[in-house]
This record gives sequence, structure tokens and C-alpha cells, in this order.
Amino acid sequence: MIAEPAVPEALSDLDQELNPRLAAEARFNEAAAKLGLDDGMCKVLRTPGREVTVHIPVMMDDGKIEVFTGYRVQHSIARGPAKGGIRYAPDVTLDEVRALASWMTWKCAVVNVPFGGGKGGVICDPNIMSEGELERLTRRYTADLFDFIGPEIDVPAPDMNTNEQTMAWIMDTYSMHRRQATTAVVTGKPLALGGSRGRSEATGRGCLFVTREALKRLRLDPANTRVVIQGFGNVGGMTARLMAREGFKIVSIIEWDGAVFNENGLDITALTKHRKETGSIAEFPEATDIDRNEALYQVCDVLVPAAKENVITSQNAHRIRAKVLCEGANGPTTPGADPALAENGVFVIPDILANAGGVTVSYFEWVQDRMGYFWNESDVNNRLQEIMVTSFADVVDFAAQRKVNNRTAAYMVALERVAHAIRLRGLYA
Ligand code: NAD
Repeated sequence: MIAEPAVPEALSDLDQELNPRLAAEARFNEAAAKLGLDDGMCKVLRTPGREVTVHIPVMMDDGKIEVFTGYRVQHSIARGPAKGGIRYAPDVTLDEVRALASWMTWKCAVVNVPFGGGKGGVICDPNIMSEGELERLTRRYTADLFDFIGPEIDVPAPDMNTNEQTMAWIMDTYSMHRRQATTAVVTGKPLALGGSRGRSEATGRGCLFVTREALKRLRLDPANTRVVIQGFGNVGGMTARLMAREGFKIVSIIEWDGAVFNENGLDITALTKHRKETGSIAEFPEATDIDRNEALYQVCDVLVPAAKENVITSQNAHRIRAKVLCEGANGPTTPGADPALAENGVFVIPDILANAGGVTVSYFEWVQDRMGYFWNESDVNNRLQEIMVTSFADVVDFAAQRKVNNRTAAYMVALERVAHAIRLRGLYA
């Protein structure tokens, strides 16, 4: 019997709503029930295939040894090698890594790339660690996981507090053990080490492609489309830049330290420069500062939450006045928020579809590494567009046929693809 991780009894209703594992479970349960998956298949799909815990000794700069705990969870390898990021944070838990690994399985299945799902994490505080300490931690974590990762086994990528440099260290450590350069062991690498053109723009570009498809379905004209974006980082910043270039009006950007508004559309290049010079988007001369706590509830055509999880909850979902919600971030909407969004007729492009441009170009990176031939940027972008447009249609058409919302449809499409692979492969006893 599989031991179910316990939910702490003291969790309030809202805490439960914000718990990523419970959110992942709620979405899974609804989609599995609607598909009529049998109990046995549900057990397989719900349970991670493999969970590795490592205790990583690291020589710190002061000459003392510290031991860090790290995890790698491979939720599914039914459709291909496990795929998913590695995060470094003080509050990493195995429970969270499990939930994020299953999310990756569904995300890869929704865009139909031949990967399963995985996730890794190390409990550490990168803000108080030196570059040297982080490098030693990363290399020992990689060496400890050597038997469990690889181009055909499990392909990590950057996540919270890990980056191109972290991936370069992993690639190097793995390659030294293998005695051969193995670039395809990780994605999100620097271009000079087998990274892909277009990777850093890919998630924002994917958001643009699926939003364009949603506007076509709703018969809205991009030139008259008012967009509000929360988060001006990699995903939000790139989405803003690409949408503005296509003629969308980015009327508002919301950051943790302020929000700006211009009804004629913000000049994203100038705003980026302003933030670089002043450290904030606030007090941008070509816009008005508005209350950042209210900015999410403006009337707009497209709202892109691209900052963090749990932004739209049962507490505030009824206040969202966007026609299209394009979930650039992972888990910005809790299951408790879904009914109010549906009631208000918001067209939701769920996270596992909307932000899957990143993992799609990671797939391209893995493909290019394995064939040793690198595509130009327009090849990458055209292939990304093809996958995002097809996946959008798969989900939205399925939603219409089965009379479910887009999010449930995305999960149903994903679960069915993974279940189908498992049935075809059969259980190897
Ligand atoms: P990032 O750190 O580059 O950007 C996040 C931005 O959000 C930062 O500018 C930060 O200041 C801002 N922010 C943080 N808290 C905020 C708040 N409360 N209100 C407003 N703004 C706030 O991170 P990113 O890579 O852009 O990732 C953003 C989200 O997208 C995360 O949920 C991430 O998991 C998800 N995601 C990222 C990728 C990718 O390729 N980078 C792919 C898929 C999903």
C-alpha cells in the first residue's frame, strides 16, 4: 500500500486551498472522474514512480561542513524521460516536489512532447550562499543523482533560484562521470554549451500564441485588446514585449512594489529601461501609478498573471473582470477560484497549457543536443507556434465536445494521453 502524505490537521480552509499538493490533487481528481478512469489507473497516475532523497555534504567557505537535503521525484516516465526543474529554497519539501513533478507530467502531455514529469529541490538558502558553495552543492547533488538522471532517463532544468550556470555545472559534472560530453542531460543551458536559441523568450512567446488563439475564438481584435500583466520578470516581461510588438495595448503592469497604467498602452522598452535605471516600475513618467492591490481587478480583455502562485483564489476570483485569463505563472489560480471565473464567463487558458512554451523549447533543446545540429531562431519559434496552436485547439475543442471548462479539459487531455501510453506499454511485472 502507498502511504498517503498526511495533511496537517491545523490547516485552515484557506491554507488548504493554497497548498500545491491539494491543488494538484483536486484538479487530478476532477479530470480522472470525468474521464471515468478506473481506480487502478488512478493509483498509477497519482503515485510518483520514483523518489530519491540525497543528503549532500558541502564544504562551506568558512571551512565547516554542512549537510543539505535534496530530492528528485520522477512522477512518470510513461511517455518518455522525466522532465522538470530543480529549485533551491529553504522551504522545499518532498510533498511540494511531488506535486510539481506530477504537474510536469500533465504539462508535457498537454503539449504532446515525449517526456514524463519530474522535479527536484534542495533545501538551502541560496541568498546566503556564495557562488563557490552553490557550485559544490550542485556538483555533489548531481554526482549523488548520477544513476537516476540522463538524456534517456530524467532531464532537469532551471527553476526557482537555479539558472543557466547551475545547468552548466550539472552538465559538466555528469559529463565528467560519463567520460563524454553529454549536453542533453539538462536543458536551459547557456547557448555556448548546447542551449537553444529562443529558450529565454519561449514561455512568454507561448503565452502570446495561445492568447492570440483565444482572441480569434472570441472574435476580438488584437489592436483593440487591453492587456494587464502581473509580474515583469522573465515570463511577464517577455509576454509584454512580444504582445506590444504585435499591437496589443499593454495598459497595466503590476509588480510587487507598484503598478503602472496607461490607457493608450505602455511603451514596454521604455518601462524596461526605467526599471533598470531606478530599480522599480513605479514613477514611470509615461504612466500613472495605481494601487497595486487593486490593479488585478481592472476591466481589461486579457489578464496575464505571470508572477507567482495563488494570486486568484476563492477570496477574490469574483472581482476579476478580464475576458481572457492567460496563466503565465504556475498555479496562479486555486481550485477554489475556478467556479467564480466560470460564472463570470472568463475564458481561462490554464497554466499547464499557457506557460508550456518553456518546456516545449526545452524539448527542442534536448532534440538539438541529441542530433548535434542547432536550429536558427525562426525555426525554433515556428515549431513552437505549431505546437502551441495545436495544443490550444486540442484543449479548447475537447472542452466544447465534453462540455467542461478549459482547465478540466487540459487535465483530461493530459491524463488520457498518459493513461493511453501506460495501457499500450502494459505493466511489466
Ligand atoms: P521571474 O523571477 O523572472 O519574474 C517574476 C516577477 O514577478 C519578478 O519581476 C517579481 O518581482 C514579480 N513579483 C513577485 N511577486 C510579485 C507580486 N506579489 N506581485 C507582482 N509581481 C510580483 O520569474 P519567471 O521565470 O518570470 O516566473 C514567473 C512564474 O512563471 C512562476 O510561477 C514560474 O514558475 C512560472 N513559469 C516560468 C517559466 C520560465 O520559463 N521562466 C516557465 C513556466 C512557468
